Amino acid sequence: MPIYEYWCSPCQKKVSLYQRGFSSSPPPCPHCGNSQLKRIFSTFSMHKTYKDVYEDILSDRELTQGMVHNDPRALIEWNKRMSGGEEAGPEYEEITERMERGEWPVEQIQEKRKEFLGEEEAKPKSATSE
Ligand SMILES: [Zn+2]
Repeated sequence: MPIYEYWCSPCQKKVSLYQRGFSSSPPPCPHCGNSQLKRIFSTFSMHKTYKDVYEDILSDRELTQGMVHNDPRALIEWNKRMSGGEEAGPEYEEITERMERGEWPVEQIQEKRKEFLGEEEAKPKSATSE
């Protein structure tokens, strides 16, 4: 029987559960009984995917310019790239929500990118005092 990994938001942790076949509804969380578990395909590949998506978006000048200029085609393109077949995390939903309200959180997107790329690029070396 295959083991699937789920994310339980009330518990704020990953739970591994057995699941029979392609059942449409996930089993409840064994810790809190939450039945709204989100399927995790692979934490590793998911991070890689998002990083790649951000890299892709930010390296696409046409798309980033479109976002800066509130081009609706850029939003469509963004959504298309962000959905990518996997569910987005809450912070991405927030970004998408803001974009739907007509905001373009480019800074937030770039912050996310820094998170994925690691700290080195994000903070200037002169700022540290160790
Ligand atoms: Zn739980």
